[in-house]
Amino acid sequence: MATTYDEAWFASRASRGVQGLRAYDPGHDLVAFRRKFGDMLVELGSNENPYGPSPAARMAILDQLHSLHRYPDPLGLDLKRALAAKHGVDVGQILLGNGSHELLMQLAQVFAGEGDEVVFSRYGFAVFALATQCAGAKARVVEALPRDHATMPLGHDLDAIAAAVTPVTKLVYIANPNNPTGTWFGRDAMEVFLSRIPGEAVVVFDEAYAEMANAPDYSSVLPLLSRHPNLVVTRTFSKAYGLAGLRVGYLMAAPGLVAVMERVRESFNVNGPALAACEAVLDDTAHLRWSLDRNATERTSLTEALQERNLRVYPSQTNFVLVEFGPNTALIEAALIAQGVVLRPMGGYGLGDCLRITVGSHEENLRLLAALDKVIA
Ligand SMILES: *Cc1c(COP(=O)(O)O)cnc(C)c1O
Repeated sequence: MATTYDEAWFASRASRGVQGLRAYDPGHDLVAFRRKFGDMLVELGSNENPYGPSPAARMAILDQLHSLHRYPDPLGLDLKRALAAKHGVDVGQILLGNGSHELLMQLAQVFAGEGDEVVFSRYGFAVFALATQCAGAKARVVEALPRDHATMPLGHDLDAIAAAVTPVTKLVYIANPNNPTGTWFGRDAMEVFLSRIPGEAVVVFDEAYAEMANAPDYSSVLPLLSRHPNLVVTRTFSKAYGLAGLRVGYLMAAPGLVAVMERVRESFNVNGPALAACEAVLDDTAHLRWSLDRNATERTSLTEALQERNLRVYPSQTNFVLVEFGPNTALIEAALIAQGVVLRPMGGYGLGDCLRITVGSHEENLRLLAALDKVIA
């Protein structure tokens, strides 16, 4: 019989990890929705910044248009210098990625393989499971705090995560605040947690939403970096800085860890216009402040509006909220899509009775609520 060179055949030729892998699920076919609804589409499914980047980003990119035939700086040194100054770390402690997604994948590629374990929380960011599987390592998924937890329902159970770390644990992934739950934890909890993790395990703190957190008990893990050489912090320009389309993220860690990560980095992984735009937006702190203030205001009012409709909204320190819609979630979601409002289904996370709603602009949030009222009625 002739061989069929289909996906199953090629999968059988793939490495063990990739054989068990499923491609990242981006949620919906947004390109098709954009074609159908045009400007009327309300995109609240991907946690993008509705206000866009500082206008300085566009000017910086225009300036790059005359040198598109040249490779960019392979090290992205100017951007690294700006980031080092901003965060109070050395240039050698920074690694740039084509989005932080790339860096999260490469961390597993570098530090975990067959026979190794990677620890992360249930409802942790989807890329953690993908990266682990791709590397051929074993995922140790730790139960999250229960839905009826008094202060942080669905939050990371740091005690249980620390207890799951064993001598075969190579990597621990933690998102603070976390996507898709929006949950977070503070400095004291972090210090206790890190004191319990052996130095042999690399601990990755994904802080994609750090800029948006304004709770008094939230803290970035960055101040602890110098005391814990096994600590990695990842950040992104996709969310608070409004540059999701350019794909730039970065990590901060001990120089030795960065040097080993450099070995697997693709040459020129961050393009020239993206490097220039990121440098430019770092300078415009006024725009960032304005956009973060608006997000905080809209997050509060959207949360209250949803609660007034008797929906359970989980606590969030991000630019999205996780909301319980009950047994009719799929029907409600479909009815919203029919009106051009796109949210993120949560079935893939095992939260099929919830939807994740990006905090949009004031107008977008009002349109979501109007569409929702039609559906509920
Ligand atoms: C959006 C997001 C990222 C950022 O991904 P990029 O590849 O930098 O766009 C990383 N981690 C979490 C938890 C996120 O939600």
